[in-house]
Amino acid sequence: MKTSVYRKAWEYLENVTPLETDCGVLCGNACCKGSDQDGMLLFPGEEAMYHKDDGFKIMDSGIVLPDGTKIKFLVCKGYCDRKKRPLSCRIFPVIPQIDEHGYLNFVPDLRGVTMCPLLYQAAPHTISPAFIDALYSAFEILTEYEQVIEFIDILTKENQDIAADLERFFG
Ligand code: SF4
Ligand code: SF4
Repeated sequence: MKTSVYRKAWEYLENVTPLETDCGVLCGNACCKGSDQDGMLLFPGEEAMYHKDDGFKIMDSGIVLPDGTKIKFLVCKGYCDRKKRPLSCRIFPVIPQIDEHGYLNFVPDLRGVTMCPLLYQAAPHTISPAFIDALYSAFEILTEYEQVIEFIDILTKENQDIAADLERFFG
């Protein structure tokens, strides 16, 4: 995939955040506080947006798409140049999903359910309409690419597995 596609998608999500106010004050920026082993999945080919001196470590995630594309994993230092943050950070705490009718929508990213107050204490918060608009604008471009659709399917399956585990645990 061309870097111009990611550049455009990043641009849509450059200045919007899940809430109209800084949600980091609710949790002390919990989603940036992983260890040096924690990180986030890059979308297919998104690693081409990075240079060696950007301060990130990029490694194989172990996920391989049907065409052989290896999905990469990005590890940061807990701070970054916001202009270089990957899509996974720009869209957290949601992930895209393609529903059974082929429509794009967005659902809570259950990998963050114990970390993100917008997930575990959702009621008092209203997700910013500008954030939602930006998500659709970015992913309407990205989902023109089969590799992105395949990757979204993997994310969806993982999310459904977590939902099933939570259901089993909490009944
Ligand atoms: S963990 Fe959730 S509430 Fe906290 S900064 Fe990240 S997205 Fe915002
Ligand atoms: S890349 Fe930036 S936004 Fe993403 S977790 Fe690391 S510090 Fe936070």
